[in-house]
Amino acid sequence: MQTELLPVSPASLEMAGELIRSGALVGFPTETVYGLGANALDESAVKRIFEAKGRPGDNPLIVHISKVDQLAPLIAVEPSPAAKRLMDACWPGPMTLIFPKSNLVPSAVTAGLDTVAVRLPGHPAARALIDATRRPIAAPSANRSGRPSPTTAMHVLEDMDGRVPLILDGGPCEVGLESTVIDMTGEIPKVLRPGGITPRRIAELCGSAGVDDAVMRPLKEGEVARSPGMKYRHYAPTGALTIVQGEADAVTEAIRNLYDEALAEGKRPLILALDGHLPAYADRKALSLGDGAAGMARSIFARLREADDIGADAIFSEAVAADGLGLAVMNRLGRAAAFHIIEV
Ligand code: AMP
Ligand code: MG
Repeated sequence: MQTELLPVSPASLEMAGELIRSGALVGFPTETVYGLGANALDESAVKRIFEAKGRPGDNPLIVHISKVDQLAPLIAVEPSPAAKRLMDACWPGPMTLIFPKSNLVPSAVTAGLDTVAVRLPGHPAARALIDATRRPIAAPSANRSGRPSPTTAMHVLEDMDGRVPLILDGGPCEVGLESTVIDMTGEIPKVLRPGGITPRRIAELCGSAGVDDAVMRPLKEGEVARSPGMKYRHYAPTGALTIVQGEADAVTEAIRNLYDEALAEGKRPLILALDGHLPAYADRKALSLGDGAAGMARSIFARLREADDIGADAIFSEAVAADGLGLAVMNRLGRAAAFHIIEV
């Protein structure tokens, strides 16, 4: 299959909508990461997503809508007052809500679960694509399973060339991490996967918010993941990734030492550092993670891809505090490092 890469335009959106209606897959930009979309109401189209990604069949997809009134047919309940407040305040945006599913949603979408994940994305091109398709779009991140989520159209092309007919290019993603997934089926909203909408913001809007305790640790043996995607070792770069956290001067000193030791052992080390700390590493090989938690959110997946591209085999990364957006950043980085974290 020939893969076309087109900038977002009225013509390419029309073409993409027609492709999705006909059962094909399209890569498209959202504010979180690039998605791989199919008609959410077409079981065989949805199955193509799992094939193209090499995704395990028990990992459910998120259904994307362009207007709030498209939610009702997908779910089996009336949204609670808390859900309505979240939707009013955070949609369009990087927030996914879990509800009991209606019979309209094929079980391939939810991997057999009786709940469905729904999001109304903030990126105008994503909503325009849903409008052009005139169907809800089921879409996970557009990476091959086990690779970092794509935050540019080129990342999607790297992973999906020859597997999909069309990728829409809408530039780099603004948030850079996948959406906050919130389970709305219990007493209080519960964050299953941290993202751009923080637990504090949810608590402000709903009075309280829980965070699944599997967010900042690996799953125990035999433990069932509340959010199935969390059980998969998300992306682990080929090189061993170590996170070093603590006070800034102690961190840069520890990383310099680790880097120099690795180099002396004949390895190809690489440092991932916040922008302001780059000078502390002098002429060692270092890539920028941008500025603060937001910069790191936008850059981390691209840097992990680059680490593999240059064949780094000992990667040392700085950290940010695991609160607010930093919780989402450290959740992804922690998983990529198999929670190999050094405190200094
Ligand atoms: P992705 O868009 O690639 O990040 O994948 C979507 C993720 O959303 C999955 O890996 C799950 O962790 C989560 N998800 C989707 N549907 C559900 C659901 N019904 N219950 C809990 N988590 C879900
Ligand atoms: Mg994904």
